[in-house]
Amino acid sequence: MSSYLEWMLGVLKEAVELAGLPHEVYEYLSKPDRVLMVKIPVRMDDGRLVVFEGYRVQHNNALGPYKGGIRFHPEVTLETDIALAMGMTLKNSLAGLPYGGGKGAVRCDPKKLSAAELERLSRGYARAIAPLIGDQVDIPAPDVGTNPQIMAWMVDEFSKLKGYNVPGVFTAKPPELWGNPVRIYSTGYGTVVAAKAAAERWLEGFEGKVVSIHGFGNAGQYAALWASRFGAKVVAVSDTSGTVYDPNGLDVELAIKVKNETGKVVNYPKGQKLQDPDASLYVDADILIPAAIENTITEKNAGKVKARLIVEAANGPTTPGAEKILYSRKDFVAVVPDILANAGGVIMSYLEWVENLQWWFWDEEETRAKLASIMERNFKRTADRWEKLKAESSRPVTMRDAAFVLAVERVYNAMKLRGWI
Ligand code: NAD
Repeated sequence: MSSYLEWMLGVLKEAVELAGLPHEVYEYLSKPDRVLMVKIPVRMDDGRLVVFEGYRVQHNNALGPYKGGIRFHPEVTLETDIALAMGMTLKNSLAGLPYGGGKGAVRCDPKKLSAAELERLSRGYARAIAPLIGDQVDIPAPDVGTNPQIMAWMVDEFSKLKGYNVPGVFTAKPPELWGNPVRIYSTGYGTVVAAKAAAERWLEGFEGKVVSIHGFGNAGQYAALWASRFGAKVVAVSDTSGTVYDPNGLDVELAIKVKNETGKVVNYPKGQKLQDPDASLYVDADILIPAAIENTITEKNAGKVKARLIVEAANGPTTPGAEKILYSRKDFVAVVPDILANAGGVIMSYLEWVENLQWWFWDEEETRAKLASIMERNFKRTADRWEKLKAESSRPVTMRDAAFVLAVERVYNAMKLRGWI
């Protein structure tokens, strides 16, 4: 079994136990509802025929249609896809969305495909999974290796099969094609809304707080931008080229411009340049936002982190061992977990889907306000539950535990009311 699936099953089991639910809930959710394996034959530009393998996993739809991204990556396997679909059931549940969980994947290296090959592959995959998806059934979106252009091709292919436009079957489309302009920054923005809510609850406010950000791509850049717009002082950002640091606060818009024009944040002309890309993890800061990759804060370096609050934009950046070390620090407040803090993307997908179904579009500010209020509600619900669990439990409980308990409980309640268990 893939280690990721094993890990996911462990998380699920623990959440079921901590929530005090019957073991059959674990039994039920440890397997997906349905797995579709497809082949996608693609004629390459040089005339060769390459047959790609793809999947669509539908894990659970107690709360609504299956929902989850499509990954184009050379190392995807069916087992990883099952684990990712399971994770989506829990993430969508915690987010309070009317969705179950699903996930799709194609084993390929999109970087090695020409634009025309990528389009043929995307359309081929959409045709292959078309019998199982639909705007009321299963709604995919982008994930690693896929993007709004790919969603546009897929919507077009699916719509051709149906004979009419079906925009709501894929989300995170380009704004010109029934997407929403908030989507591009929804993850970073949502993370900052969660960070702000956490700081207001536990650090006496967000304004003036010192923030450091590890990773400066889509999630990290927009997290930095919105943190500064909400009045925090962003003192460090890093990418693989290194870290830029200025205790007086960085000019975030300039850092983004430099990063996007030169590919390296260390070309930022002011402040100090530190060679170590991990230096942003250790600077003096109130709030640390890991926004790069998984396993960033581990048992090895958690002792060097000074921030009191960690808000996870990346998936899985803090290991369980690291969390133990962090929580043992007297002044440490919380790790706001990825499943809660980086859900802005899927919540925005939901808002886009609602727009598509009713053919009625909100403007950017209205959409952003809706996204913020959902993030704030989810944060409050999780923080309240965490405080309650801590007061009741004889063992240490993390905010991540509370998030998983809430997520699994909501799915359980839906399944019970439907009479499934
Ligand atoms: P991205 O590729 O746009 O950016 C990643 C950034 O991290 C880059 O700046 C890269 O240089 C930096 N980086 C990578 N390894 C690093 C290292 N070892 N040290 C320092 N910096 C490093 O990716 P993204 O879309 O911003 O995603 C980042 C994380 O957020 C991932 O874990 C992803 O799963 C998660 N996430 C993203 C979204 C989204 O909508 N973009 C949604 C949910 C979760």
